[in-house]
Amino acid sequence: MRAHTTVGDLDLTVLTDGTYLLDGGAMFGVVPKPLWEKRTPANERNQIVLGTNTVVVRSGKHTVVIETGIGNKLPEKLRSIFDAKQLLLQSFHAAGIRPEEVNVVINTHLHFDHCGWNTIRKEDGGVEATFPNAQYFVHRGEVEHGHLQLERDAVSYISENYDPLIASGQMTLIEPPAGGMEIVPGVSVEVYPGHTAQMMAVMLDSGGRRACYISDLMPTSAHLDVTWVLGYDLYPLTCIEQRKRFLSRAIPEQWLVLFTHDHLHPMGYVEWGAKGKPQLKPGY
Ligand SMILES: [Zn+2]
Repeated sequence: MRAHTTVGDLDLTVLTDGTYLLDGGAMFGVVPKPLWEKRTPANERNQIVLGTNTVVVRSGKHTVVIETGIGNKLPEKLRSIFDAKQLLLQSFHAAGIRPEEVNVVINTHLHFDHCGWNTIRKEDGGVEATFPNAQYFVHRGEVEHGHLQLERDAVSYISENYDPLIASGQMTLIEPPAGGMEIVPGVSVEVYPGHTAQMMAVMLDSGGRRACYISDLMPTSAHLDVTWVLGYDLYPLTCIEQRKRFLSRAIPEQWLVLFTHDHLHPMGYVEWGAKGKPQLKPGY
């Protein structure tokens, strides 16, 4: 378990599939290395350490899982390049949460590092649902995009993370309207495009408070500057606009921001810093 908190009546537990390594340049796009490495040091191969944060939300009626890490289906070569740790099931166990308890799984998008434990590779080579009693929710456009297998991002979409669940009826494909869509009471999704065309944020609302899993729109607390978008983003200009849209509410309304890839700061509040730039509030 990485962190625990409550938002109104909702109980939030942050679990992890472990750290992994990605190229620092790819994670900071056009930002020069001397600037980004002050926030995020790189190793001798220019890689930076990222987390894979899963949030378990319990309302008393529902147990909801947001994002499922990298999983155990990566080919060995990729697993070793990323130094993926495959710890999510141990992390569930350590927190005393059984996969069978989970009613709902939400994937913000279908890149391999967000939906890897949707299914588990068995010893006979097949796959099965990791959360046997859950209904999975994902944007229809993400599935369609993954199926295109485009040159730019085919490597990010591993069909065994979703196609078997669609075939079995365990995955529901949704198209949330502009104002968002409620999945269960207190848990809703809203499209924040830019990283992909249909990436969704997850909003958690209870007792007049809100937490937001903003996913890869702002993957770590080092990505709060609106122009520090990722090399991986498909629509960088849209990301800049959507980051402004996010901050224009997250700061004045003091949303608890849940970061998908920040291993050191899985959650925090954002404020305007001295130079007019958004920063993590110290001391959380
Ligand atoms: Zn990601």
